[in-house]
Amino acid sequence: MMTVQGVRYMSDFEAKKSILDIGRRMYERGFVASNDGNISCKVGPNTIWTTPTGVSKGFMKQEMLVKMDLSGKVLMGKYRPSSEVKMHLRVYQENPEVQAVTHAHPLVATSFAIAGINLDAAILTEAVLGLGSIPIARYATPGTDEVPESIAPFVNTHNGVLLANHGALTWGKDIYQAFYRLESIEYYATILMYTGNIIGRQNVLSCDQVDKLLDIRQKLGITAGGIPPCSVQETNMKDIVSSSDIRPSKPVTLVHSNNQTLKGVTPIVRPGDSHNTETRVEKVEPEHLSKVKEEIIAEVVRRVTEQLN
Ligand SMILES: [Zn+2]
Repeated sequence: MMTVQGVRYMSDFEAKKSILDIGRRMYERGFVASNDGNISCKVGPNTIWTTPTGVSKGFMKQEMLVKMDLSGKVLMGKYRPSSEVKMHLRVYQENPEVQAVTHAHPLVATSFAIAGINLDAAILTEAVLGLGSIPIARYATPGTDEVPESIAPFVNTHNGVLLANHGALTWGKDIYQAFYRLESIEYYATILMYTGNIIGRQNVLSCDQVDKLLDIRQKLGITAGGIPPCSVQETNMKDIVSSSDIRPSKPVTLVHSNNQTLKGVTPIVRPGDSHNTETRVEKVEPEHLSKVKEEIIAEVVRRVTEQLN
């Protein structure tokens, strides 16, 4: 470790060792196939070590890694960096607190990215607390400048994004936090798939329950992560059935929580439109329509006021 202007950075040796370690874990967990994926880690305010192109991340050696500055200039190393390092550089430029970035193609999360479905259902307490919701950045051709543009809107408000038809990207205050967020995204995506598509039932957390989790999240010092849509009604205290009687859960009205202390209400991001910020309201039952309308109007007023300030 070394400290520059009050910020602690890994040494070159620690950064390279950690990148090799994370690469092995990424490959062994099946988050990447072949030579896919990339990892980077800061060693100073303007320098990173990153992974080479054309090499399996499970079998890297220290001499394959590349040192670069944040403008993209190679400072050290015989191999070429991945063309995808552009999105890493953009994350560091947008949010100087980020110390590491990981990118992979984990199976379930990537499947959601292909289906165009945000990972934002408030169904798992740990996901709301530690990860938040994960939006989809609009589709961009890998390796082009469109990719960094597509992720930039989320770097200060979320802990990671899905890349449409591509994979997942996470960042953190150190390389392990960035990787754990990648693991958490895949875990959360798998739970979403099991409950939504295999068991076919999800009791979504109510807005009161989400607000309490967001309070805890703030006390933990986590200021980014997105605010997932929540259920107007509390469902998980009464909608309990026998496993011999599994029927789909009743439709619930979803709105955004009233908690306004955290930035990053998770927008509906459809491929092709990363700036869409409408409030998600799904499966609206007619009797709840007026209440939902009121909440939408309140949300719009809040956002307009926010923009004016
Ligand atoms: Zn990729």
